[in-house]
Amino acid sequence: MTHQNARRIGIVRDKRYLLHKPGHTHPEHPNRLKAVYRMLDADFSGDLVRIEPRPATLEHLELVHTPSYVKRVLKTADHGYTSLAPDTPASAETYLASWLAVGGCLKALDELFSGKLDACFALVRPPGHHALRDRSGGFCVFNNAGIAARYAMKQQGTQRILIIDWDIHHGNGINDLFHNEKEILYFSSHDPMLYPYTGDWEDVGDGPGEGYSINIPLPRELEDKELVHIYREIAGPVMRSYEPRLIIIAAGFDAHEKDPIGRSRLTEEAFGMLTRLIMGFRSDIGDPPVLFILEGGYSPRALAACVKEVVQALVNPTLPETPVVAETRRAEDIVTRVRRIHRKFGIW
Ligand SMILES: [Zn+2]
Repeated sequence: MTHQNARRIGIVRDKRYLLHKPGHTHPEHPNRLKAVYRMLDADFSGDLVRIEPRPATLEHLELVHTPSYVKRVLKTADHGYTSLAPDTPASAETYLASWLAVGGCLKALDELFSGKLDACFALVRPPGHHALRDRSGGFCVFNNAGIAARYAMKQQGTQRILIIDWDIHHGNGINDLFHNEKEILYFSSHDPMLYPYTGDWEDVGDGPGEGYSINIPLPRELEDKELVHIYREIAGPVMRSYEPRLIIIAAGFDAHEKDPIGRSRLTEEAFGMLTRLIMGFRSDIGDPPVLFILEGGYSPRALAACVKEVVQALVNPTLPETPVVAETRRAEDIVTRVRRIHRKFGIW
């Protein structure tokens, strides 16, 4: 399709995201983003639209978080080094990076909704998908994706928001925030044997949100093409039936085989294939705005390679036309199980 030839792809980036310093040995280290930014400068100079973040406002943060929790994060500025949770330390400027991480996502949404961009990748830290209403955890401070979804509902009146979370950890923060709602559909694939040990098959949402949480536990041995098969068979029908008016990807890359925390076997190519697949389904439903938000990924080198695959797929979505899939028994079993659990809701 010719209109896809000149895609305007936005990138949120800012040096101030490096100011959150959880410690030299902490996996969520500023070197992660440094490696990603270096890769962008080397491989995509001139191809991308740079989006400058602005700090979020209190009102934005309180779309999701309690005022007392927001205050607690702000108070970390009084200390050179302190801790928001046992695994989530804070340095004196963590608050600034966190405010800007949310603000960068919201600025990206404004640009997407104004039609200036076809897609955007917010390359921010700290990550967000484990952050709860009133609590940090799993290296996350504010729930960037959750706040972005609420902001779109409030500012744009966006109906039906799909959040796809391919980080290898279950995004318990996002899952909890929207557990009772059908306006935001949370779709996660993850290793259930890793932190936070949630996101079971039967976790499908509650009340009016029943059926609007789709949790897909993955075995560690799963390979690239099997994951693409699972996404093709589940995310495809979900997108066509739900017809989201905004797609947010909680894009973590700790399922990479070289990641020091995840224990999976994927390569960077999996993420390029997933991106092309999702962008293909998206064009079937009228190209709603799509925002990628960085979550995990703890080998700076592997992380940069994965982000490169995604950005390449966004800049040039048509090659290859159809991602290669592998319909192995174990991939097919996963698809069958998710379908069986969700059939009764009649949503997809
Ligand atoms: Zn993760």
